[in-house]
Amino acid sequence: MIPYATIEEASLALGRNLTTLETLWFDYSATKSDYYLYCHNILFLFLIFSLVPLPLVFVELARSASGWFDRYKIQPKVKNSFSDMFRCYRDVMKMFILVVGPLQLVSYPSIQMIEIRSGLPLPSFGEIAAQLVVYFLVEDYTNYWVHRFFHSKWGYEKIHHIHHEYTAPIGYAAPYAHWAEVLLLGVPTFLGPAIAPGHMITFWLWIALRQIEAIETHSGYDFPWTLTKFIPFYGGAEYHDYHHYVGGQSQSNFASVFTYCDYIYGTDKGYRFQKKLLQQMAGIRSGLPLPSLMEIVAQLVVYFLIEDYTNYWIHRWLHCKWGYEKIHRVHHEYTSPIGYASPYAHWAEVLLLGIPTFLGPAIAPGHIMTFWLWISLRQMEAIETHSGYDLPWTLTKLVPFYGGAEYHDYHHYVGGKSQSNFASVFTYCDYIYGTDKGYRVHKKLLQQIKEEADQKGGRKYD
Ligand SMILES: [Zn+2]
Ligand SMILES: [Zn+2]
Ligand SMILES: [Zn+2]
Repeated sequence: MIPYATIEEASLALGRNLTTLETLWFDYSATKSDYYLYCHNILFLFLIFSLVPLPLVFVELARSASGWFDRYKIQPKVKNSFSDMFRCYRDVMKMFILVVGPLQLVSYPSIQMIEIRSGLPLPSFGEIAAQLVVYFLVEDYTNYWVHRFFHSKWGYEKIHHIHHEYTAPIGYAAPYAHWAEVLLLGVPTFLGPAIAPGHMITFWLWIALRQIEAIETHSGYDFPWTLTKFIPFYGGAEYHDYHHYVGGQSQSNFASVFTYCDYIYGTDKGYRFQKKLLQQMAGIRSGLPLPSLMEIVAQLVVYFLIEDYTNYWIHRWLHCKWGYEKIHRVHHEYTSPIGYASPYAHWAEVLLLGIPTFLGPAIAPGHIMTFWLWISLRQMEAIETHSGYDLPWTLTKLVPFYGGAEYHDYHHYVGGKSQSNFASVFTYCDYIYGTDKGYRVHKKLLQQIKEEADQKGGRKYD
């Protein structure tokens, strides 16, 4: 609604002629009520939810059929059929009709309260841009904390798990969530305009851009030509995809727009580590020529040394009170280990101890065959170490500083309280950091006892 009856009246009040855009706006909105203008959002949201993800549907179908775009898909193993994507759209539309639309209809008083204007003059480009920046920053910060709350036990089980049904999100899944989540996440979106209210057009633009941003973020594709890559600290599709990929247990990448909240509050550590690792692992080659025997051996030595050193410290940490009670206790159920018990552990331990195994190949990537060999040897080594048998003809006894079955068996024998023999492969870490003292005393004592027994035994047959 514009409080002037004619264009002449309006330009008289402004003290200047109307711009072309202002004339257009006058012609369009002069006779329309503010409520009616506000409700345009319903149409905009419907169009955006329906049309913006549509190109992604064609991209996904083309990819499934021919492998095109495969290299831009963030989780290329996941394929969505047309009916999968249509089901998502149908669910989102249901939510739109039942929740988003009615919310728009009844939230008008709040728009009146914060005094969003709809008249003339139109806002300058600078005003629009400044307000949009503020809205995005406020949205991002507030959304971060609401989203973190959703990842509490209660919030996740009752509400947020629905949004996480997609471990590999698609464009249509951006607003796919529990109705309570849709309502609650309306707050961060509305907070910016409440703090810095502007023109109705800015408000429309904000709602539209925020939804388009969410669709891009959930697209599942990381296109190199995406313009948002130019925005500083912008998260984007690959960033939020990781949050869905990790799933319900995810304590990483909560932010909806930018990356700085996760950085400041330390909730992007896992993501940054994995990204670096993957980037370096990308150096693993699979073609010809095959690696020389020298290269394979050199790399395996490096892998074993890195594994041993990193594993030592993680294992030591797993023996702190918290780490032991929550995680490592499971592996120590065997006080006298057997071969099959070597990977017997809490799932978190299995994940965590994947790091030392992948770190070597990430630092010194080689041929895929070397990688296979490494994974196999590492597992065989762990099985030997947990075998429970100290066979005298074991060839690994020829490897210098090699721990072996008897060495790690002692760690299990002492059990949870054990502060001894943490190393997984070699003995030198425990020696340097002084965590083999108990073991060495124990071994010496056993030897003395054995020698004494031998002497006594010898005398017996005198
Ligand atoms: Zn989440
Ligand atoms: Zn999401
Ligand atoms: Zn242990």
